Amino acid sequence: MLNFYPGPSKVYPEIRNYLLDAYDEGILSTPHRGEQFVQMSRAVVGSIKRKLNIPQDYQIFFTSSATECWEILIQSLTKQKSSHVYNGSFGEKWFQYAKLLRPKSEGIKFDVNEAMPVEDLQISSDTELICFTQNETSNGTQVTPTTILNLHNRFRDTLIAVDATSSMAGLNLKLIKADIWYASVQKCFGLPAGLGIMACSPRAIFRAKQMNERGHYNSLVSMYEKMLNYQTTHTPNVLNIYLLKRMLEDRPFIKAIDQDLTDRAQELYTFFEQFSDLKLLVENEEVRSKTVIAIEASERLVDDMKKRALYHNIRLGNGYGPWARNTFRVANFPAIQDEEYEELKRFFLHYYA
Ligand SMILES: *Cc1c(COP(=O)(O)O)cnc(C)c1O
Repeated sequence: MLNFYPGPSKVYPEIRNYLLDAYDEGILSTPHRGEQFVQMSRAVVGSIKRKLNIPQDYQIFFTSSATECWEILIQSLTKQKSSHVYNGSFGEKWFQYAKLLRPKSEGIKFDVNEAMPVEDLQISSDTELICFTQNETSNGTQVTPTTILNLHNRFRDTLIAVDATSSMAGLNLKLIKADIWYASVQKCFGLPAGLGIMACSPRAIFRAKQMNERGHYNSLVSMYEKMLNYQTTHTPNVLNIYLLKRMLEDRPFIKAIDQDLTDRAQELYTFFEQFSDLKLLVENEEVRSKTVIAIEASERLVDDMKKRALYHNIRLGNGYGPWARNTFRVANFPAIQDEEYEELKRFFLHYYA
């Protein structure tokens, strides 16, 4: 089965062997306060920073998912309000949860085909956290490094948090330009679902300590205190942390992965552009995602393509949110091999050219 679903997505084939090793090494029943766990956790934090180009002074955390990070950040870094700049379903959901916890939180929506309008953003001066989604998985848009830099320059005194769920471990993100970045591992990391990774700047940690919010098992300051000794507040997904460690050790540096994905995204966009019945959902090339390709067609055709593909053992991604029925998505994630995209192209050329 070829799987182009943008999450949960294809896992690295090496996972099969790592799973056997995990069993044989006894990691599956090791206590999470013991030396074996702490050693593994320290090693994986080192690999995350080295392989993903994360600044040494950023603090790494293990969470259970990106969704959990939405909650942790609102709980532990805001008292009154956060500001959410979004153009799709994931950014909007984060905003919805924020409003439930902090009713004064504000949302600013922008169009799928426009770059985030940094210069025009009317963000209240008392906002405690600016939140956005670097790669909007629902519609295949991205916020470019230049836009992130401009945002950082315009709001220097405010903490900025970035949902990078479908780009971290795929793109060479410049973490220094924002305070908090997080992802779930079932997208670009090529691992099974059930683990989130969050990186926080010294400034974010300072703020968490200052607020000292301790009302939850996943309060950021409690997580920080435990992580000083490479531990978690609760029993974590030890197996997935082990898989993450093995996967990172076997992978090249993020710069090389980013280059490969960038080239392949370009090829995929060019490929899908040639079909007269298909249209790229995102017309503005600047803001097109490099890791999630969204393609629009009539509902009937989308349905036909997904079914026919499945019959040929190819899983295409469904559309999402308002684009559920008239788009399909193709993940451009590192675990998927170039040959698999060649097969995908042959399928489209054969049936739809
Ligand atoms: C998949 C995804 C999420 C949710 O991830 P979970 O692991 O289900 O919490 C959040 N944000 C973005 C941008 C995503 O792509």
